[in-house]
Amino acid sequence: MNYSEKILYLRTKNNLSQDRLAKLLNISNRAVSKWETGISRPSTDNFHKLAKLFGVPLEYFFDAACDSDKQKSQQATGMQSLKELYKIGSGPSSSHTMGPEKACRFFLKKNKNADFFKVILYGSLAKTGIGHGTDRVIKKTFGAIPSCIEFNYTEEDLPHSNTMDILAFKNNAMIDKIRIMSIGGGSIEIEGYKNITPDDIYIHTTFLGVKKYCEDNNLSIWQYILKFEGEEIIEYLMKIWQTMKQSISRGLNSEGILPGGLNVQRKAKYLFSQRHIDESSETRENRMVCSYAFAVSEENACGNTIVTAPTCGASGVVPAVLYYQQLKKGFSDDDIVRALGVGGLIGNLIKTNASISGAECGCQAEIGSACAMASAMLGELFGLDIEQIEYASEIAIEHHLGLTCDPICGLVQIPCIERNAVAAMRAINAVSLANFLSDTRKISLDKVIKTMKETGYALSKEYKETSEGGLAKIWLD
Ligand code: SF4
Repeated sequence: MNYSEKILYLRTKNNLSQDRLAKLLNISNRAVSKWETGISRPSTDNFHKLAKLFGVPLEYFFDAACDSDKQKSQQATGMQSLKELYKIGSGPSSSHTMGPEKACRFFLKKNKNADFFKVILYGSLAKTGIGHGTDRVIKKTFGAIPSCIEFNYTEEDLPHSNTMDILAFKNNAMIDKIRIMSIGGGSIEIEGYKNITPDDIYIHTTFLGVKKYCEDNNLSIWQYILKFEGEEIIEYLMKIWQTMKQSISRGLNSEGILPGGLNVQRKAKYLFSQRHIDESSETRENRMVCSYAFAVSEENACGNTIVTAPTCGASGVVPAVLYYQQLKKGFSDDDIVRALGVGGLIGNLIKTNASISGAECGCQAEIGSACAMASAMLGELFGLDIEQIEYASEIAIEHHLGLTCDPICGLVQIPCIERNAVAAMRAINAVSLANFLSDTRKISLDKVIKTMKETGYALSKEYKETSEGGLAKIWLD
């Protein structure tokens, strides 16, 4: 990266707008824009200020060897198990409920003798924490031990947009403190605790690498997964599938208003039970798939049990397409498990090389990833080859690029629920296109994942799960 790209990267990584950075440096925001587009170059004095502000050495801006942690993370050395992607948990948000719950459990276990806990939420966790139920889940996790929660809306110097500090007290004295990042899909990172991150089990980090390995060893993608995960992944994925089906069933049998105060009606049952006297097969397919996606998403919005696929907010897409195809074509549960594996591998590639967090890269990272996973699953079920599966998932994510995360009132309801249904239909469309057009494709999955990450980092923070932009803002006008 040159100095322009490094300034852009550091600014977006730290969730600073051009305006905000300009104010911090006491310059005009046009100057920041010119630096980032390479039209002009900061003065020596301003380079010093930038280095100090972002905590990097001055050489960072000029020395290719000092390239950022962004580049390092792009050179990931492996990928984690699919068990780290698919998790059974309570909605409505993997990064706002499951991640903080995991963080509090970890800290509670570490500080069994504490008599009081304080949690400080920053960034997106603070801005949409109440709508997403973060406060509720924290209180519940600490149980009988008193706790308080502080919402810090102003701190901008954060390692991740979903950051939280947890402090433990005993007899009014602080005895422990940690900083935790909820990085998406219910996973967390703890500052200074590298060894809590599960080990990588896959040796490849790109689709190209996976594909070449499969070709060299004459393996299908599913056989590749079994080789690295072991046979026990079958049982795990079967449990995931059963949980997904239970979420659909509960959602289709529930009525009423979703919690949170928006007065959103549950619609899955209504959609499912509608009949047109002359309903076409296309209309019926749309209605059925959407009703399944609504069913799971409404369960998620109620804080009920769902599977992260890859997140809570996007949990309706994958079950909807799989359930519909199982009923329509009679695929066995074993077939579905195989498809879950293949789609999960696509989700893993996105998680490793970009993000599955709406707070980090917008809704393209959640719904876009879910759609890419679902279309790869359909490719596997329909017997498409590895190139076609790659193309199906590439199409699916490509046409979600730039999708913002703007949940009204921080609730995972509008636009989230409908968005799951639309993405489920889009997955069916993507696999259909890939079936016919794979010979003509120009863009690889790896490239579109990289594009998704760059687009996500360039999005203004208002559109990354802060409820300060888009529909969430217009709603308040
Ligand atoms: S808009 Fe998308 S990313 Fe944001 S909370 Fe809703 S589903 Fe998740």
